[in-house]
Amino acid sequence: MPTLKRFNIKILGIATIVAIAFLVQACAPRLSPQQSCNFVMSNENQRVSWGPAAPVILYVDSSVPSEFYGAIQGAVATWNQSLGREVLKIGGWSSAYPRESQDGVNVIYFVKDWSDSIRDKQAITTIHWAGDRIFEADIRVNGNSRHFEYFWGPSIIAGRVDFESLLLHEFGHVLGLEHPQVEVQGTVMARRLDDATLRRTPAPFDVNDLKCEY
Ligand SMILES: [Zn+2]
Repeated sequence: MPTLKRFNIKILGIATIVAIAFLVQACAPRLSPQQSCNFVMSNENQRVSWGPAAPVILYVDSSVPSEFYGAIQGAVATWNQSLGREVLKIGGWSSAYPRESQDGVNVIYFVKDWSDSIRDKQAITTIHWAGDRIFEADIRVNGNSRHFEYFWGPSIIAGRVDFESLLLHEFGHVLGLEHPQVEVQGTVMARRLDDATLRRTPAPFDVNDLKCEY
């Protein structure tokens, strides 16, 4: 029987990744450990990724304000262009998966009643995997206006967080990236995203990490 293991990687900063793995105890041959490239690692020390299942198709829940659709598409296009291949794809709007759960569908939510107890987090990305293959990812954005407000477009708005920069970071988690142990200048996977800050372009370091798998 598979055993369920849930990892909650706690961080001091803003965005979090929550990962859930099904670890199948099998008589598989031992695999040699891989270099992490800042990916989440499986129990067998393999990078956890979508592998040949990419591009990942993500649906936008109807809770996400339509003014941010362009921000989501912008972040998708940035990763695809940076990697020179399509790794992410937007499937369209959906109201068919009303809450984040393991349902086989990748959904982006905007949570207006986000709990005050995790008010410092701008978003939480959950990935589910078996062995070293991700089979689902969901993103929840803190949509509680008492915690954060967002903007998108060419003009920075004081006191608000750039939705595109935030989604670019969360998509990094969707693809399997962790927060780097050492934050190289310019990395979009840095734990903290300040308001009124544009971070819409991955550092070469981020792209090289993803190229370990894609
Ligand atoms: Zn993060």
